[in-house]
Amino acid sequence: MTGRLAIDGGKPVRRLQLPYGRQQVTRQDIAAVVAVLKSDFLTTGPKIAEFEKAFADYIGVRHAVAFSSGTAALHAAVLASEPELPGKIVTSPLTFAASANCGVYVGLEPAFVDIDPKTWNLDVRAAIPSDARVVVPVHYAGTPADSAELKTSAVVVEDACHGLGAEVRGERVGGCRNSAMTAFSFHPVKHITTGEGGMLTTRSAELAEKLREIRHHGMCRDPKKYKHGQGGWYHEMQRLGFNYRVTDVQCALGLSQLKRIGSNLKRRREIVEAYRAAFAKDARLELPPEPKGMKSAWHLFPVALHLGRLAAGRARVFDALRAEGIGVHVLYIPVHLHPYYRERYGFKPGMFPKAEALYERLICLPMFHGMKDRDVKDVVTAVRKVLDAVGR
Ligand SMILES: *Cc1c(COP(=O)(O)O)cnc(C)c1O
Repeated sequence: MTGRLAIDGGKPVRRLQLPYGRQQVTRQDIAAVVAVLKSDFLTTGPKIAEFEKAFADYIGVRHAVAFSSGTAALHAAVLASEPELPGKIVTSPLTFAASANCGVYVGLEPAFVDIDPKTWNLDVRAAIPSDARVVVPVHYAGTPADSAELKTSAVVVEDACHGLGAEVRGERVGGCRNSAMTAFSFHPVKHITTGEGGMLTTRSAELAEKLREIRHHGMCRDPKKYKHGQGGWYHEMQRLGFNYRVTDVQCALGLSQLKRIGSNLKRRREIVEAYRAAFAKDARLELPPEPKGMKSAWHLFPVALHLGRLAAGRARVFDALRAEGIGVHVLYIPVHLHPYYRERYGFKPGMFPKAEALYERLICLPMFHGMKDRDVKDVVTAVRKVLDAVGR
């Protein structure tokens, strides 16, 4: 840390750092959690089905299966796809490592399709490798990738960990019109939180049942499907699963949080409008796209610096904004550039030039529904101050 020195050596815009994302927990949320703590079930009780039902109803999809994390949900989705090996998992380079790791866990080889600079998502019109078994379009920043455009016979699993409440041509992401399953995360920086947690949605009853088995060690609990045995005590492990269960305590929090998703999304949109009003005409910044027909859920507000118009690089702008008390972040380091991916699979810089070029210019400004107007103003003031200081 260089201490709290603003870019001009004077007073920073904020003394305490504004985070880039933050949960909001209300008195009602706390009461809902406490009620479960006093009940008979801490886990595998009624709140799980209640949360799943409320979530499925909100999305407008038949089935929702809750998991202990978004990553567990993605892993379970790949397992439920029963991919033939050898084969590939294909995703965007501009995502969190979990979007690719979920395939690596089961022995798929990771592969990437470069982004479309017009959407900042995986280029859905690009060729998908013919040995792809699972394709994971990521709705980066909350803005949907158009899965309808994907030309592949692989199983499509949408990573909507940024996309709760996003819409594609008027339909909520997670409805699985053009995918087998859609994954969500309830990590505290995401739209709603359960501490840790995740969800898969699907239209298929068969997949939903398989996912519930995978969540609970691969145990089958339907007597009609038992291969051996009988008796009231009996259950049967027919596949290899995990303990990816979520607790009732978590689901009570999730249920309570989900009630506010409407105002949450509305507030994010107001913040986006304020950022757009402040920065749309600023030639030093490129603002995130929201393509026609797509409604973003605005999990993040990433901006790309026009480095040719600045005398300093991204790192200098980033450090200066942090010194002004603005908790900016860079999401994401392209997955293929992580040492594990380079060393294990031979990925190198230059392989996905569009994602890499965007990454080099990227800074995510604070974006969460609990931001006050004052917070938004501080971000605008600090960004202008820093860009003026390093601008040509
Ligand atoms: C948060 C996130 C995940 C993982 O979710 P966890 O709940 O943290 O395991 C996966 N993909 C993306 C794009 C995410 O943002």
